[in-house]
Amino acid sequence: MTRSRLTAFVLPLALAGFLLTAGGTTAQSRQPSQSPVDISPGAIRFDPTLPRLEVSYGHSDLDLEYIRKDAADSNGCGTRNHEETEEAVVRPGTGHVTLAGVRYELEQFHFHTPSEHRFAGRADPLEMHFVHRSAAGKLLVIGVPLRAGAASPVDRVLARLAPECGETVALADFDLNTLLPRDRGTLRYNGSLTTAPFTEGVQWFLMAERTVSPATIARFQGLFGDGNARSPQPLNGRRLTAVPQI
Ligand SMILES: [Zn+2]
Repeated sequence: MTRSRLTAFVLPLALAGFLLTAGGTTAQSRQPSQSPVDISPGAIRFDPTLPRLEVSYGHSDLDLEYIRKDAADSNGCGTRNHEETEEAVVRPGTGHVTLAGVRYELEQFHFHTPSEHRFAGRADPLEMHFVHRSAAGKLLVIGVPLRAGAASPVDRVLARLAPECGETVALADFDLNTLLPRDRGTLRYNGSLTTAPFTEGVQWFLMAERTVSPATIARFQGLFGDGNARSPQPLNGRRLTAVPQI
């Protein structure tokens, strides 16, 4: 009884102290800049003067593998964790992007269901993320939503999914360029990784939708019955910048 009364008294004091510290001049609290986000049209501004994202993708052998997040769990091989995914590892040096003179090497691309980014509350069935890293370690991710329609080269990647704790799926001499939409216009914002440790400072470049066959979507959704997408995070005043293809 005494102890619970003491706890009830001390906790609000501790909370007040924390708030005072966070609001002080030396420790200004900063709003989180997390990903993904739900993009409302009002948060988008148009700026054709920003530097172009130059995409230089070539051909690569791919290793499609299942990325585990539950290796310590003895039942993990049969358990779908929402941060797990199917990831295609590309050969070093086969793809990169350049932004304002800085080169970012393509390391891998992977998939989420449903899409992590939403537009005016609407999600797509799948989303592809192409993860690039600069020599200084800065991350740049291209996001491409996928919806049901005509088959595309993306279907070839997801034709056979790598099982958790099983063999990787090898794809020889894949033309990476065919995975992106023709329109290289981008919607840009600063965010974070969408899986732990949710590190911020990630430059996001969202591109136009591509289509895959309904069978491909069903196969991927069948693997991740509860989805493997993080829910949208608050924009906290961030704006997105639309840069058209020039
Ligand atoms: Zn991702």
